[in-house]
Amino acid sequence: MNASIIRVLDENTANKIAAGEVVERPASIVKELIENSLDAGSRTIEIEIEDGGTSFIRVTDDGSGMSSEDAKLSVVRHATSKIREVEDLECISSLGFRGEALPSIAAVAKFTLTTRLKQETLGTFLEIQGGTLTDMREGGSNIGTTITVSDLFFNTPARRKFLKTPGAESSQIHNIVSKLALSHPEVSFKLINNQKLVMHTPGTNKLVDVLTSLYGVQVADDLINVNYADNDITISGIIGKPTLLKSSRQWQTYIVNLRVINNRFIAKAVDNAYHSLLPKTGYPLTVLHITVPLDSVDINVHPQKVDIKFRDEQKVFRSVYKAVTATLTAPLPPTQLAATVQLRFTERYQNANSFAPAAGKVCHWKQTSLDSDYSQQEEVSPIMVARESLQRQDNIFPLPPISPLESVRATVEGTQFALRALGQIEDCYILAQGKDGLYIIDQHAAHERILYDRMSKAANRIPIQQLLVPVFFEFDPREMDVIQEHSAVFYQLGFSLDIVGPNTVRLTEVPADISASDSEDLLRQILLEVQTMHKPTAQDLRHAGLQIASCRAAIKAGDTLTMRQIQALVDELCSTDLSYTCPHGRPAMIRFSPKDLAKMFKRT
Ligand code: ADP
Ligand code: MG
Repeated sequence: MNASIIRVLDENTANKIAAGEVVERPASIVKELIENSLDAGSRTIEIEIEDGGTSFIRVTDDGSGMSSEDAKLSVVRHATSKIREVEDLECISSLGFRGEALPSIAAVAKFTLTTRLKQETLGTFLEIQGGTLTDMREGGSNIGTTITVSDLFFNTPARRKFLKTPGAESSQIHNIVSKLALSHPEVSFKLINNQKLVMHTPGTNKLVDVLTSLYGVQVADDLINVNYADNDITISGIIGKPTLLKSSRQWQTYIVNLRVINNRFIAKAVDNAYHSLLPKTGYPLTVLHITVPLDSVDINVHPQKVDIKFRDEQKVFRSVYKAVTATLTAPLPPTQLAATVQLRFTERYQNANSFAPAAGKVCHWKQTSLDSDYSQQEEVSPIMVARESLQRQDNIFPLPPISPLESVRATVEGTQFALRALGQIEDCYILAQGKDGLYIIDQHAAHERILYDRMSKAANRIPIQQLLVPVFFEFDPREMDVIQEHSAVFYQLGFSLDIVGPNTVRLTEVPADISASDSEDLLRQILLEVQTMHKPTAQDLRHAGLQIASCRAAIKAGDTLTMRQIQALVDELCSTDLSYTCPHGRPAMIRFSPKDLAKMFKRT
């Protein structure tokens, strides 16, 4: 009696559903299109985007091109030239294989494809709007393929809302194009963002050339080559010296069998290798090309094909760990410029009985010829500034050392405070007694809250310290854009930044609570945060900046405090408005009321 209620969805609806997975955001479209161009054997690939790819994306290649028949098929779901049968899934050497990308993209945007085979005189043009073919013609065109994608999600407004700011979307595109360029150094990539050329790799088949064009010559001095082979795994690539740590994983690219992938085991192996040598937080710059037998990996884990499953994860982990460790511990060629420069400065400051850079600390500054005012840079190194301010900052509550007896007295007399500090546990938590119960305080979260409040109360500008000698930093074009756009907010946050070259910024003032040596990391972290924000207002940026700065400057778990320092911390915490949470919203303190205690001891 009951009629069937299950329907097979029509192709257009199925494509829109698939698009939800494949076409997450403009960067995923750019990735799919570039991967198609690479599969087609292209030598040059040009990507042009506008408004972070939301209004316009064009990818042009000089690859194989398609016949008119294939062009029509390429936009049909599950149509692919790359595999034929299920067995082929065991041994995938192309980047694509699911035949999903083009139909999915064409279902949620206005899409055009122009393509021509080398041997043909005419090419094919077709246009699809929201999954419907609206035009198809033959005509003159270049060899290769050009695809344009406009008005992304024009027919799926719900998806449109999930797009971030053009700045955030273009930074993701920049990121993925960089990684794809690193995976194929033999291909020349051009990225044009809002009519500005922002990336151009030379296609010389040398990884170092790609890295230099992406990150600047300054970085190139701090790189080491990796070469490792172990039975059927080979690992090659370039990694940064342990001193060149970055504040995010954005500078890490992992490539397995020429495919850019994400894999937490590989990332972990690299972290472990670095941190076994240098116990410091941060992420090294790494580009690793890992080659394993095709049938020992499964790439068909997720539609976006960035997650990868290894048949033997442990083996890959061990090989990566060994490759990186061996590279880092091998002696460096004595001609390494950065090393010699560092040595010179170390000697100078040791002789001058001044602050020598700590072992392994890199001196990142630029001998600049841009500004003759700083020609005496040789005489006073920024390192010295950094060390000085470190000395100043080391002691958060700079009090004279006190005897145990004194510390007891300080505790007992502490009753005038709302909370009386009782002691420290695990160098991480503070116990305190209040009128209304027992308090356990997370020392890092609490100090973070204090600093955040202190800094945000500074109405115009947070307190700053001037650097004796300016420090020069290099940023990539996206970061330069952010610095330019938000220079007023950075000023409020305590950074005095002047743009002195296409990629170079001069820093003359930093927040008082941050050591000069930490300021570069801090700045980069703020830049990263801004790029992922949804339409950040000046207020958002200020909040993010203060949050990051207070986290940086706060005492950490593991710092041993004296009783007076503990009491000072507790007092300050009591005077903040939102003392129960840190600026991230984590608890800063937990209270056990007498009632809670009674309950726990079953006295009720
Ligand atoms: P897949 O890459 O998984 O095969 P796509 O939907 O991305 O699926 O592409 C479908 C087909 O269109 C590909 O298999 C390929 O034959 C063809 N194609 C797509 N882009 C290009 C290009 N830039 N150059 C040549 N052929 C292309
Ligand atoms: Mg594809």
